[in-house]
Amino acid sequence: MKREATVFRFSLSTMKTLAAAGIPPLIFPLKARSKYSYQESPRCFGAKRSGGRLHAGVDLYGNAGSPIFALASGTIKAVSFFNVTGKNEHAKSVSQIVIDHGTFTARYCEVANDFPAGIKAEGKVNAGQHIGYIGNLAGIINWPHNMLHLEIYGGFLTGGLTAVNNPPYKRRADLLGPTPFIDRASVLGGYFDEVVTTATATA
Ligand SMILES: [Zn+2]
Repeated sequence: MKREATVFRFSLSTMKTLAAAGIPPLIFPLKARSKYSYQESPRCFGAKRSGGRLHAGVDLYGNAGSPIFALASGTIKAVSFFNVTGKNEHAKSVSQIVIDHGTFTARYCEVANDFPAGIKAEGKVNAGQHIGYIGNLAGIINWPHNMLHLEIYGGFLTGGLTAVNNPPYKRRADLLGPTPFIDRASVLGGYFDEVVTTATATA
């Protein structure tokens, strides 16, 4: 599959303005904030899930195929299927991207299996860089919306992020609530001065 890749660039003047204001350039990872708030159940962090598990991230609704942007600069640690231990259809229908953002680690999930060119493990990303597309969950899981499921970790532990023996979230113990991060993230349009549509991404 081929898709359009989009590149957003900060201007120098914008970077200076942000720095002067003491604002870290944390970018909202989708084009727009959904009317379905990530602060409310069932999308919020800690919302109840089946089997007593609690929701380990926030769900940011968006259209399948919409671009996903890096929250901040960093290094990609993994690009793989999301449900790595699953054997159901969900396991190979959507992917995850794990990025070490320096002061925290983010896990971007329910992502389409095709990526913009150059998005691969150990690659570097800039804040706001186009890193993937929202996956299509129709017929895969029983949920009425496509989304970016976003998890945040302190990054001081190593190893797999899914930890089935660590309830209630069943995630690695340095899991953090993403809400404060997303609350202060800015939608791209507010910060980016130049939008460049490039050649199509590779499959
Ligand atoms: Zn979720």
